[in-house]
Amino acid sequence: MHFSPSPPILSQGHDQMEMQANDVEELPRQKIVLLGIGHTNAHVLAQWKMNPNPHANLICISNHTTATYSGMLPAVLAGQKPVSAMEIDLVQLCASANATLLVDDVVGLDREKRELQLADHPPIAFDVLSIGIGSVPETAGIDSKLNHVVTIKPMQTFLQRLERSLHREERESETPLQIVIVGGGAAGIEICCCLPGFIDASSINQRYQITLVNRGDEILSGSSRSVRSRVEKTFRQKGIEVIVGRAVQQIDSESVILDGGESLKADLVILATGATAPPLLKELGLPLCDKGFLLTDQTLRSVASDPIFAVGDTGTIQGEKTHKAGVFAVRQAPILWENIQRLVKGQTLQTYHPQHSFLRLLNTGDGSAIGEWRGISAEGKWLLSLKDRIDSTFVKKYQVPSLTPNKSLEMQCRGCGSKLASIELAAGLADLEIHHDDAAVVDVEQTQIAISTDFFTAPFRDSFLNGRIAAIHAANDLCATGAEPMCAVANVVVPAGPERMQQRYVADILAGGKQEFSLMAPGMRIVGGHTCVGPRAEIGFTVIGKLNGPSFQKANAQAGDALFLTKPLGTGVLMVAHRQAQCQAEWWTELISSMLKHSSELAELARETGVTAATDISGFGLIGHLREILNASNTCAELHTSNIPVLSGALELTKRGFRSSLFDKNFLASRDVDLSGVTEEPTEFPLLFDPQTCGGLLLCIPSRLIEVFQSKCDDAGMAVNRIGTLRPRLDQEPLVSILT
Ligand SMILES: Cc1cc2nc3c(=O)[nH]c(=O)nc-3n(C[C@H](O)[C@H](O)[C@H](O)COP(=O)(O)OP(=O)(O)OC[C@H]3O[C@@H](n4cnc5c(N)ncnc54)[C@H](O)[C@@H]3O)c2cc1C
Repeated sequence: MHFSPSPPILSQGHDQMEMQANDVEELPRQKIVLLGIGHTNAHVLAQWKMNPNPHANLICISNHTTATYSGMLPAVLAGQKPVSAMEIDLVQLCASANATLLVDDVVGLDREKRELQLADHPPIAFDVLSIGIGSVPETAGIDSKLNHVVTIKPMQTFLQRLERSLHREERESETPLQIVIVGGGAAGIEICCCLPGFIDASSINQRYQITLVNRGDEILSGSSRSVRSRVEKTFRQKGIEVIVGRAVQQIDSESVILDGGESLKADLVILATGATAPPLLKELGLPLCDKGFLLTDQTLRSVASDPIFAVGDTGTIQGEKTHKAGVFAVRQAPILWENIQRLVKGQTLQTYHPQHSFLRLLNTGDGSAIGEWRGISAEGKWLLSLKDRIDSTFVKKYQVPSLTPNKSLEMQCRGCGSKLASIELAAGLADLEIHHDDAAVVDVEQTQIAISTDFFTAPFRDSFLNGRIAAIHAANDLCATGAEPMCAVANVVVPAGPERMQQRYVADILAGGKQEFSLMAPGMRIVGGHTCVGPRAEIGFTVIGKLNGPSFQKANAQAGDALFLTKPLGTGVLMVAHRQAQCQAEWWTELISSMLKHSSELAELARETGVTAATDISGFGLIGHLREILNASNTCAELHTSNIPVLSGALELTKRGFRSSLFDKNFLASRDVDLSGVTEEPTEFPLLFDPQTCGGLLLCIPSRLIEVFQSKCDDAGMAVNRIGTLRPRLDQEPLVSILT
């Protein structure tokens, strides 16, 4: 079949612009967006890693930070493989490919503007889009929201939901737990076979009975008679009952009701029913097939002729009868990669021809597998080994190995790690009478106004997120002064690039800042700003606040005060690791959520309590900022490292040798730290010098106020940690003593 060449999406030009030396950044000319990172789109990401288009950005939108490889799920369920064997870490994969990951839900598509609308993010413009959000199990008429009903999708959370349901249904009863699996396709069969391994590992002390219900007259329709016989024999050996030719019409809290009205007792129901179209597809306004999937031509491109591909389960090729299976999604992947590049260049697209036969391998959960190839079947351990080899090879292609820090990749850190070290700053300010608290406080017509400014190299690839983080980071200085935020002025350095990209870039940053400022204080706005084109994306906000009482000052701290820290440490080390694709998805999720926590409410609680001394932890790390308090108030401190909260992954990365580029200079302050109170250096020690972006507040609370403050925090549901105490400064006394 021939397809006429598509007009180029955007001319690449002959004069390939070269990346200039010294890490000069440029905004892209094109945006390629992958929606859903399943079997097909993940391949594009992996190819991009090896062969990126220097003029384009690759943006990946996923509703989870990991993708699950379904072929490996039965082995994990059976306890043959760890969960990590089926997971693709999208945070690491995207970081390793220099792609942007947005974890969000798409809610619509503007075809004219070529923009995807997201739930929690400004619209994402695209020049090419590939949609691969898979399929969802059929639930027609069934209430899949009931507590004891577990759907196979989203696969990322299937095991947790199953575990929860199993434990909920566990009861001290002599009657066996009745488990009904709905759907007699390959997925339902494998789940029946592998579930016993999962139940055994879940330490549920109850007998159970598994029953499979299938609407069709035979299980595994489309497979050969011999495969079905082998499966039926396996089921008999495992005591699994099978009901065929009956559809589930309803599920209530105790039973499954079949067509004809017969009721089947069910304590737990697993829906492994056939693939149906995700509801989002009909919201996109693109042509659909009769089953609601996106209709494409043989090149995998939407028949609407927009620059949009639909792949894997999500697409249905006009005139093709192939059913939804991962093997097709995988075979489409190289065609998709090729066609994305061809579409960008305006070349003729390649056609995809689905294979007519494929090797089917079913894990029977007992160390063996049943295989089928062109109607011939076989069974044995060797087939499970073969399946494992195929599946493991697939997943490993997308998993980023654990590495030690790459020194040759080490570059100036971003976020607060990009600031000047405290020594250079102090030297620069030495002869000038410049105020050195977190924010400057000036009297304006009898109102005390606090002003502070912050500026850093953009830490992430997502400008909206960068805007949010920059706003929270800048406002921290107001919080550490006890001021109520009022307004902000933005400073943005925009890299060179096409005008439309520069506009979008600035708009996204300001939208991020605006969102956080308005959440921080009602009426807080960005009232102005300045932009300039420069070699690197940099963002900052000058923030202005009003003091409703005395300001917090470092010099107000007193011996006997308890030190409270309001956020965990470790943002610097995690951000460095993220730039080297070593920050795991769950660490990244916790990192971002911690950075996005505002400090304004806690500062207000502290102010109400009567606190008068505080600072925020930023680029100089905990010890660096604590030293400022100690020097200003002529005190010293003891710190209990076991009480100092740290972000998940920070300790492991520290042990592996990851450090922010500002670490060495921050660590010079260790000469003021006494470790004689501990038998060995605590593992957390390096994190005390880790630069923090959007770090917590360090509050000095007089002993008489500790209880009041703690109970105010408890009432507000805010976690704070008492990490140490201030002591009088005596001669020869170390500035900071570390205790466990
Ligand atoms: C238990 C089980 C075992 C299976 N075993 C096999 C097998 O051995 N061989 C085989 O060929 N097929 C198998 N299949 C079928 C196979 O899983 C699917 O055909 C295959 O996953 C389709 O790939 P995909 O890329 O289209 O979608 P998926 O692999 O489902 O990927 C879609 C991705 O998009 C994400 N997503 C979904 N909605 C959104 C949204 N709105 N926004 C952003 N992201 C979204 C999802 O989180 C997911 O990561 C199995 C299915 C199951 C349930």
